[in-house]
Amino acid sequence: MALIKTKGLVIKEQPYKEQDKILTIFTEDEGKIQCIARGVRRQKSGLLASTQIFAYSEFVYYPGKNFGIINQTNLIEAFYPLRTDLTKMALASYLLDLINNGFEFYQRSPEILKLLLHVLFYISGNKAKNDLILVGAFQMKLISYLGYCPGVSSCMVCKCEKELVVFSIENHGVLCRSCRSITAGYTYNLSAEMIKLLNDFLRLSVKELKERDILTSDALKLTDMLDHFISYSIGKSSKAYTFYKTMLNPLG
Ligand SMILES: [Zn+2]
Repeated sequence: MALIKTKGLVIKEQPYKEQDKILTIFTEDEGKIQCIARGVRRQKSGLLASTQIFAYSEFVYYPGKNFGIINQTNLIEAFYPLRTDLTKMALASYLLDLINNGFEFYQRSPEILKLLLHVLFYISGNKAKNDLILVGAFQMKLISYLGYCPGVSSCMVCKCEKELVVFSIENHGVLCRSCRSITAGYTYNLSAEMIKLLNDFLRLSVKELKERDILTSDALKLTDMLDHFISYSIGKSSKAYTFYKTMLNPLG
């Protein structure tokens, strides 16, 4: 069988047999795939660095029915600083979780991979004024890519663009003050600044958004809300996000 060569980011690793790992890799050319990396749990394995979670590498593998078999790797970027900062690592793990949950195997999106690499680069390199803004932008751009873009520029009921005050999960977007009172379901109160930021998440690049800041409590409310909306839309929730929240507030 012909070898396949593609760049990809390790988004999940599971121990397998004595010394092997099963990797889930979000690749440029083949989409989300699973590969077995043999012998990589041995200390001396030459493939160790390139087959860890967050490693962005060039992979050469034999395709298989369920799993590919890794033949060769070449590490491009390891995002090492993520491993030394627990908060950054929890946020970055959440981003990987969103790909694990949102993408089917062999579903391909070089655009989303590129976006994810940019966000990891900025978070890992301490390049953003507020990491949560980049997480919010990734959530919003990803869910839009998956076909569930929420409406954030006009009221989902009456279509007016004035006095937008809440985000409604069940209505897939924002509502104005008068429609809020006649609509049931779970809503998040949002300031005008937060609604503007939601629009900017879609409109601006992460390169532009890394310069933006907002009160951390507001940023956190937006990421909570978008995570709720994503879980509602794709029908899967993220364990990594729960872990991140527990870490922020260990006493609950
Ligand atoms: Zn309305």
